[in-house]
Amino acid sequence: MAKYKQTEAKSGQGLFLSVNLMEQLLPGTFEYMLNALICKKIDISMFDKNYNNDKTGASAIPPRVLIKLIIYGYSKGIKSSRSIDELSKNNIIAKALSEDLEPHWTTIADFISCNSEIFKEIFVKVLAYCAELELIGGETFAGDGCRLPSNASIELTGKKEDLEKRLKIYRRMAEKHIAKHKRHDEKGKNDEETERCYQLQQKKLTRNIEKISSFLKNIEIKEGRRGKETTSNITDNESALILTSQGYIQGYIGLAVSDKKEQIIVSAEAVGSANEGEHFPRMLETTVNNLEKAGVKRKKKIKMLADKNYFCEENLKACKEQNVQAIIADPQYKQRLGDNKNKRYEADDFKYYKKGNYYKCPNGKQLTFKRINKNSEGDEGMVYQASVKDCRNCPLNAKCLKTRKDISKLDRGRSLFITESNSPGSLSVALRKKLNTQEYQDEYAYRIQIIEPVFSNITHCKKLDRFSLRGKKKVNGQWLLYCMVHNLGKCLKGYNKKKGYT
Ligand code: SF4
Repeated sequence: MAKYKQTEAKSGQGLFLSVNLMEQLLPGTFEYMLNALICKKIDISMFDKNYNNDKTGASAIPPRVLIKLIIYGYSKGIKSSRSIDELSKNNIIAKALSEDLEPHWTTIADFISCNSEIFKEIFVKVLAYCAELELIGGETFAGDGCRLPSNASIELTGKKEDLEKRLKIYRRMAEKHIAKHKRHDEKGKNDEETERCYQLQQKKLTRNIEKISSFLKNIEIKEGRRGKETTSNITDNESALILTSQGYIQGYIGLAVSDKKEQIIVSAEAVGSANEGEHFPRMLETTVNNLEKAGVKRKKKIKMLADKNYFCEENLKACKEQNVQAIIADPQYKQRLGDNKNKRYEADDFKYYKKGNYYKCPNGKQLTFKRINKNSEGDEGMVYQASVKDCRNCPLNAKCLKTRKDISKLDRGRSLFITESNSPGSLSVALRKKLNTQEYQDEYAYRIQIIEPVFSNITHCKKLDRFSLRGKKKVNGQWLLYCMVHNLGKCLKGYNKKKGYT
């Protein structure tokens, strides 16, 4: 017969264990570094001004506990405050980081929501530590945006007119719902369950009607770049309707600029806007300021790489002002690199003659000034046009004209729309020419390697698939925290090497 050892645990016998929480944080791990940095290295005294309870009230949970716990939770892909609260109760490492205080999830949520300004300061301090570990090259940077949905309902998005229509629909639905319930009541068809469902549905409809009508009462029409009305959102009006490769989302764009050496994020901001390009000058300024604050010595030559979303004259001017070399792809960059056989002549192929204000085409014919106009993006520009006769008889018309119809029926000559960004002598034209050189193309090829892994790490490894907060300020705080988590992850190797934990 088998004979096994008896266990006291099986019979429900209690056991006293002595646990040293700090010993649970093993040298060489992320949590060990996090604890050491927050407790000893990074000054977080700026949180103190939030507390005024020395004479009255209960003692508060120390901010070091909350920040360690939140960063640890985010690094493990846990972003909900309730789950982080749970983690501090069930996970020994989280328990050690939270110093056994087990903060309530509302405390965690408040801390994330209310401290976005302080997170900016801590972000720079983490950056300074990255610089101390020599993780920042300071020469080549790449900027881009990561489009993420937020805690805003896409159902409740639209222009004023759309929202008014939706309100009418909800009202009609509520009326029909009441009428149907009355009918059933008269016939004695309503039992307890149908009554419960009816109340629930009616409550939902009433809530939506109230929400939309109170929003419409105080609506401030949002204007887009072209001065036209853009969509508003009832749940979070600071978020934007953003087009992504998977369709439209209601959310924010997490902007980031990262350094080439170790992909350290040097500047981060979340914006509730569909167009990320317009924020480039601010991103650039923050990058320069953050590097200065972090003690990174400015290199003589700084390069900034970005994709076509950032190509415009204003952004190139911003680079020039900051003395930064811009390597930003223009919208036709990829086509130019590809098969050039079917490429149509662009403005750069036409030569401008200031005296007389006209252009000459590759066939040597004149394009004269016609009028001032606006393009679909709202940019003002000048229209120049060739004579229809010249174009009909031109041997180059296949490379120049869009039309594939019978050329003898052509009713207008080729026209050029010259805006600030494609006028002769503009920074955009100069950059387009430089982008045709091998040197610029080689440099631009690094863009993907520098910035895309940063977004993959945050969205895939750290599982930030949507912002869980509402309002630009709060979302910005959450984005900064995730960027900090990314940077701290990059510090681990250098920290362990420095401390001899390899
Ligand atoms: S099609 Fe007209 S504009 Fe184009 S190259 Fe010929 S003549 Fe010039």
